[in-house]
Amino acid sequence: MNTKLVKIETKKTIALVAHDNMKQALATWALMHKVELAKHELCATGTTGFLLEKTLSLPIHKYVSGPLGGDQQIGAKISEGEIDMLIFFWDPFEPMPHDPDVKALLRIAAVWNVPVACNQASADFILHSSLMTQEYERPIPDYESYMSARK
Ligand code: PGA
Repeated sequence: MNTKLVKIETKKTIALVAHDNMKQALATWALMHKVELAKHELCATGTTGFLLEKTLSLPIHKYVSGPLGGDQQIGAKISEGEIDMLIFFWDPFEPMPHDPDVKALLRIAAVWNVPVACNQASADFILHSSLMTQEYERPIPDYESYMSARK
């Protein structure tokens, strides 16, 4: 499929998700980066969102809990171009009842060329990138031209 460029604005929409064993690590990381995170729109799966809201005292749009469909909701928003980046502390040691949803979310983030951090070090690198404070042109699948070629 061809690609086209879409702009990620300076103010980004960041989705945050953590599995239960990783929630404290994400909350600690987020608190360390509260000033930076506060410059952006934040959203999260349900339980992660409640914890981060309490920890950061920042507004966070909360989807439903991951096992109830929250990962899929975030994946859908990525497909709609409404989420610019994903911080996803998934648990490498525990199988999850919603493993297919986790895989689907990571896949859809790859499809739409969304930056993903799956652990603290990658989250640090992303948040400290100079691209966090500027616009960025991101190549994504050109779905419109794909569809019009089928007419
Ligand atoms: P939660 O979902 O934030 O509601 O716990 C995260 C997940 O398990 O995907």
